[in-house]
Amino acid sequence: MSVFRVHNTLTRRLEEFQPLEPGHARLYTCGPTVYNYAHIGNFRAYVFEDLLRRWLKFKGFRVTQVMNLTDVDDKTIRDSQAAGLSLAEFTARYKQAFFEDIRVLNIEAAEHYPAATDHIPEMIALIQVLQDKGYAYRADDGSVYFSIDRWPQYGKLAHLDRSGLRAGVRVNADEYDKENVADFALWKAWDEKDGDVAWDSPWGRGRPGWHIECSAMSQRYLGPSFDIHTGGVDNIFPHHEDEIAQSEAATGQPFATYWLHCAHLLVDGQKMSKSRGNFHTLRDVLQRGYTGREVRYELLATHYRASLNFTFASLDAARTALRRVDEFTARLADAAGSAASAELPTWARLAATRFEAAMDEDLNISAALAALFDAIREGNAALDARALAPPAAAAVQALLARWDTALGVLAKPATAIPADVQALLDRRQAARTAKDWAQSDALRGEIANLGWNVKDTPKGQVATPR
Ligand code: AMP
Ligand code: ZN
Repeated sequence: MSVFRVHNTLTRRLEEFQPLEPGHARLYTCGPTVYNYAHIGNFRAYVFEDLLRRWLKFKGFRVTQVMNLTDVDDKTIRDSQAAGLSLAEFTARYKQAFFEDIRVLNIEAAEHYPAATDHIPEMIALIQVLQDKGYAYRADDGSVYFSIDRWPQYGKLAHLDRSGLRAGVRVNADEYDKENVADFALWKAWDEKDGDVAWDSPWGRGRPGWHIECSAMSQRYLGPSFDIHTGGVDNIFPHHEDEIAQSEAATGQPFATYWLHCAHLLVDGQKMSKSRGNFHTLRDVLQRGYTGREVRYELLATHYRASLNFTFASLDAARTALRRVDEFTARLADAAGSAASAELPTWARLAATRFEAAMDEDLNISAALAALFDAIREGNAALDARALAPPAAAAVQALLARWDTALGVLAKPATAIPADVQALLDRRQAARTAKDWAQSDALRGEIANLGWNVKDTPKGQVATPR
């Protein structure tokens, strides 16, 4: 088995993945800020992280993944007030929507989804350690800041030029750009804009800054050091740079070994974002008649470090690609029948090697999908020539199923059978018991009109969406 190599933003190099604990991969993935429905740009990041998680499992690692929910920050406070709701009521709505959306996209559940507001004591304790060690100070405005000139490694992830650092300049906002590198807020003293959002602390009433949330929650669930930290490239600065500074200054230990960042989902060459207003939520796209599976394919099919321009035409292409997969899996199922799986044909064995080698090279999905579609072409040719015996067809089915543990997109999602279809199935079962084959066939036609296929198997009727 070949080794898995990943591109580490910290070193800007491809490196072999070696976890700190043998056999156990531990990941922290920055999660949603729950102030709106996540847009499909956000889901590009979560789908990439899902592919990473699934590939680690494919390689035999046990995975512990933490994804935080940012339910207190500048944006959640601002928009909860505009909606006239308490922060908790307001964010609860979008937390629920997020979990519904990830199910639609077949994103596997992480092991932990800590919410920031449930971890305020851990954040206060971490800030206290930073202050005790001399990395943090309370300013005249009552807020507590991280002192970046006390931390000479500041800038190592974003590769900042430190020569322009101005000691003592402060930034209180959660989001700021590289032109405004400065001491950043760990704890923000209450002001009237915060309304009733405040916690008691050794520095008076206030609330945490955004960056300290992830340092505190990663430490709580993964300890001071873990393997992989991910997010979109926009997280590199300031969010991840600040997380490293806070965590390493406090613990004196290295934070994450590997940093993986996905490129943006673009619309007309611009980052899809809420602030630009050029975004589509997953719900908008489903309303237009696309499926979660098609969106997942679209987000998955471009390498995570290449930017991806979103268009509805590319979603149509995703639909076409999946149709090709579905036609092949249906043909394979017919050819395999109930045969036990035997050896893979040579073309499938070669495809299996190519697929794994591609994914091992920093999740090279384009090459992996090329191996998949080459296998489909070879498989269809073999089926056309009646050269695929049932046991070999069953082996190819098993290969696709194994690939799909990593891709999560090849199998059609199980769909609940609607009541009207079930009623026809029940009538058809009764007709078959009475050996009324003409009625059974007529009912098959009616079921087809409702968009379902029915197959008779030794275990009875099996209905699948057409
Ligand atoms: P946010 O809710 O803004 O904190 O973002 C959640 C995640 O989505 C972060 O990992 C961001 O880096 C990522 N993200 C935001 N916009 C995009 C985009 N247009 N393309 C890819 N990832 C994005
Ligand atoms: Zn984070």
